[in-house]
Amino acid sequence: MNLRSPIAPQGPEFSPLICGYWRLMEWAMRPQELVTFIEQHLALGITTVDHADIYGDYQCEAAFGDALRLAPSLRHQLELVSKCGIATTAKPGHSLGHYITDKSHIIASAEQSLQHLNTDYLDLLLIHRPDPLMDADEVAEAFTALHGSGKVRHFGVSNFTPAQFSLLQSRLPFTLATNQVEISPLNQTVTLDGTLDQCQQLRIRPMAWSCLGGGRLFREPRYQPLRDELYAVAEEIGAQSLEQVVYAWVLRLPSRPLPILGTGKIERVRAAWEALSLPLSRQQWFRIRKAALGYDVP
Ligand code: NAP
Repeated sequence: MNLRSPIAPQGPEFSPLICGYWRLMEWAMRPQELVTFIEQHLALGITTVDHADIYGDYQCEAAFGDALRLAPSLRHQLELVSKCGIATTAKPGHSLGHYITDKSHIIASAEQSLQHLNTDYLDLLLIHRPDPLMDADEVAEAFTALHGSGKVRHFGVSNFTPAQFSLLQSRLPFTLATNQVEISPLNQTVTLDGTLDQCQQLRIRPMAWSCLGGGRLFREPRYQPLRDELYAVAEEIGAQSLEQVVYAWVLRLPSRPLPILGTGKIERVRAAWEALSLPLSRQQWFRIRKAALGYDVP
């Protein structure tokens, strides 16, 4: 089913749910199994995939690229998102983790992503985290060069405050397409700190990571009241599972977030897809908010 739509006024067209590949190495899929998984989520309508240079200690993009080498026709059915701007100790020579948004690093990292993913362009490149040493002019130069060479079609940021977003935007000749941020009942910070308001104001859709709290929602005893409320709402709206209600909660936000799924299990991806048509009333939304935070609205 094609439900792709633009995520920003001059932005790329993405599917309403995105498959995230941060945990790909944990899934231990052989290349042919990964091809099958990609084909299955494409068949549902999930065409957009989320990567970063550092995922899986710099190994996930190459593993995905191996699958694209096996089945080259998949590339043009997909929108590939990647990120740069973090250096981890998984790379020899890095004695500590740090951020890095120098022009040369951004260009080299994007080129490495292209090579690993076995493609000649990225649909979207994000700066992964705000860098206290970020020089916005330098990032703009890197983005403009990558755009001019055709290596990256669109640009955005991740985990940026509205001020950091506006700063970078002020230096660019094109509009940033998204801010990828954590959105879940477990972490509601961006619903009230101006981040999602800025997205709504600019009519750009945020990408939402860790909607299920990275799986903590299911495991941690402190979330029992939240789970109880999610089950109650699931029954009311005819949802099959707790995570469907969480996705409906995220999708209910007026900035129209695009949830990034973190699972490698196709049945969980299929269940998430059904959440696209689940209605959630204002009161149900606030009941979940309250159960997660432990207190009522003031
Ligand atoms: P998530 O959906 O919150 O968590 C996924 C985890 O939850 C997986 O380990 C999954 O295990 C588990 N899970 C899902 N359904 C479950 C269930 N019913 N019962 C028990 N466990 C369940 O998402 P995430 O992986 O943390 O993040 C999603 C994507 O967002 C990442 O892949 C990445 O692309 C992106 N991301 C971006 C940033 C950023 O800073 N920009 C940060 C983090 C993540 P199974 O695999 O077994 O289903």
